[in-house]
Amino acid sequence: MGWKTLDDMDLAGKVVLTRVDINVPVENGTVTDDTRIRRIVPTIRDILEKGGKPVLLAHFGRPKGQRVPEMSLEIVRPALEAALGVPVRFSPETVGPEARKAIDALPEGEVLLLENTRFHPGETKNDPAFADALAALGDVYVNDAFSTAHRAHASTEGLARRLPAAAGRLMEAELKALEAALGNPERPVTAVVGGAKVSTKLDLLKNLVGKVDNLVIGGGMANTFLAAQGIDVGKSLCEHEMADTARAILEEAEAKGCRIILPVDVVVAREFRAGAESETVPADACPADAMILDAGPKTVEEIAEVFGNSKTLIWNGPLGAFEIEPFDRATNAAAKRAAELTRAGRLVSVAGGGDTVAALNKAGVADDFTYVSTAGGAFLEWMEGKELPGVAALMGGN
Ligand code: ADP
Ligand code: MG
Repeated sequence: MGWKTLDDMDLAGKVVLTRVDINVPVENGTVTDDTRIRRIVPTIRDILEKGGKPVLLAHFGRPKGQRVPEMSLEIVRPALEAALGVPVRFSPETVGPEARKAIDALPEGEVLLLENTRFHPGETKNDPAFADALAALGDVYVNDAFSTAHRAHASTEGLARRLPAAAGRLMEAELKALEAALGNPERPVTAVVGGAKVSTKLDLLKNLVGKVDNLVIGGGMANTFLAAQGIDVGKSLCEHEMADTARAILEEAEAKGCRIILPVDVVVAREFRAGAESETVPADACPADAMILDAGPKTVEEIAEVFGNSKTLIWNGPLGAFEIEPFDRATNAAAKRAAELTRAGRLVSVAGGGDTVAALNKAGVADDFTYVSTAGGAFLEWMEGKELPGVAALMGGN
C-alpha cells in the first residue's frame, strides 16, 4: 500500500501531530453537525491507547493567513471534548514558544488542539519555514484528513516530509475503500456518473472510461450525451457546446471496451418544482417545451441489472434532479438496489460527492454502502485519477 498506519508506529511518550478535518458548521457559537468530529475519534483514541500525546492540527474556515477571531478553533473544543470523552486543551498559538509550552504541559491521556493553521499565510503556501515550525513541535505526524489531501499545504503535505508519518484510521479506511473500488477492484466494475454538467466532470469521465467495464451516465449530463447523438432534448439542461467532447468520450469507451449506459426512457416536466406534472417518455421523445429531470423505470431496470452483474460499484452524481419529488425516483431505486446487493455481500459499493451523499441519505441507504466518502473535492480528484499531494507525501516516508 505504500503508507504506514498507526499499527506501524511506536507512539509511546511521543508528541503526535495529528492533522484532522474538524471544519464543522457552527451557528451562534455551537457546532450544528458534529459528523466530522465523530469520525476522527477512533484515531485519537488509538493514539492515546498507544501512549502518544495527540496534538491536533486543523483549519477552520478561510481566514486567508490572518488571525480572524470568529474563525478560532477554540469554538470547536467543547464538541471535541464531548465526542472524545477526555479533556481537550486549547492553545491560542499554532506554532512557536507558546504552543511548545502548551505541549510540554499536556498531561498523559489528554488532547491538545492548536489554533487554526490557516491563521498563518505559510499554511496554504506550504511554506518550508512554517512546515519546519510545525515539525519542531512533534515527534510523529499522523494525517487523518483525507478531505484536505488534494491540497499541498504545510500541515497536509510539508509536515509529512519532515517527520515519520502515518495515516490515521479515517484516512486508512478511506484509502482502502478507494483502492478496493478503483485501484485494484474486483471486476466487473461499474461506475455511475451523474449530476448537472459534463463540463464539471470531464476529467472524471475520461479517467473512468479507461478503467471501468460499465459506465452509467445519468442526470443533466446524460442530456448532453443524448443531444450529441442527434436527439432533441427540448428545454432540458444541456451543454450543446460539449457535443464533440461527448462524442469523443463515447468513441474512447468503444475503443476501450467500456459499455456506456445512457437513459432509454426519461421523466419529463414543463416546470421544475415539487409535484409538477410529469410523464415518462422514450429518451428520444422529449417534447420541445419540456425538460428531462430524471431517468425512467426502464433505464432503472437496466441499471439494476448491470449492478447485479457487477462486483464493484463507484458512484458520483445523482441520476436526476433528486432534490425535488418525483424526480428522485431513479436515484432512489438505483441506490436501493446497490444497497441490497452490498448487504448481500455481492457488491463493493463506494460513493462520494456532496449531492451524492445527500441523495443516498435521502434514500436512506448511505449506511448500507461499503463506503461513503464525505471528502468532496479530494474524492473527486481521486476519482479523476489525480495524485493527491497529502497521500503522496505519506508514501514518501521518512
Ligand atoms: P455531486 O455533488 O454529488 O458531485 P453534482 O453537483 O455534480 O453532484 O450534481 C448534482 C446536481 O445535479 C443536483 O443539484 C441535481 O438536481 C442536478 N441534476 C441531476 N439531474 C438533473 C437534470 N436532469 N436536470 C437538471 N439538474 C439535474
Ligand atoms: Mg454538487
